[in-house]
Amino acid sequence: MILRQLEQRQFILPVGLGPSPAYQWRFVNKSAGAFGNNPDLLCPFFAKGTGGCGVWRLRSSECRSYFCQSEQGEAGERFWRAFNEFLFFVEVNLSQEYLLLTGFLPVDFKSQMALLKRLEFKSGDGQNWCLSDWEHQRIWDHWLGREREFLLGAYSWVQGLRPKDWEREFAREARPYVDGVVQAYRRCSWKAKSPRPVGLPARP
Ligand code: SF4
Repeated sequence: MILRQLEQRQFILPVGLGPSPAYQWRFVNKSAGAFGNNPDLLCPFFAKGTGGCGVWRLRSSECRSYFCQSEQGEAGERFWRAFNEFLFFVEVNLSQEYLLLTGFLPVDFKSQMALLKRLEFKSGDGQNWCLSDWEHQRIWDHWLGREREFLLGAYSWVQGLRPKDWEREFAREARPYVDGVVQAYRRCSWKAKSPRPVGLPARP
């Protein structure tokens, strides 16, 4: 699915992947009650044949923190929001780090992130919008023609990270997000023990 979207100049970028503007437009302009009922709003990465995800082996921050209803009311919603922010922080930082390791610049990261979220669509004009060849070349830059290699390299790099790599690179910046998750969890009435996110060091 990823390679097919890459060929179609959809939104497979070095920084990550996202739904097409056509989908984003439909989603932003959906009518009340349509999400969950209208098949056009089904995630474009859903693999209907297998009933699973066509792109992630482990679901991403947005998908993993999605819920239909919170049995804990507002406290539960706050917890899932905090959890989403923490996971998104992790994803963004890993993505940025890998881009820098592979010769992209911080400005590339910013411009690609902006491209992934075109939620400012307010009319149907851009529904079939996809990247032009020129844009694709500009975005992939020195990795043009080796996009698959880049994506596999990202996968291997992340797989090879160890907890101490995380600690060295991101633990300090991650701390407010971790604290946010723990505090939000404690405000819920769950009786389980306070969570400690996997791979994160205990607070000194
Ligand atoms: S896990 Fe996320 S990306 Fe994959 S099919 Fe479900 S909603 Fe879509």
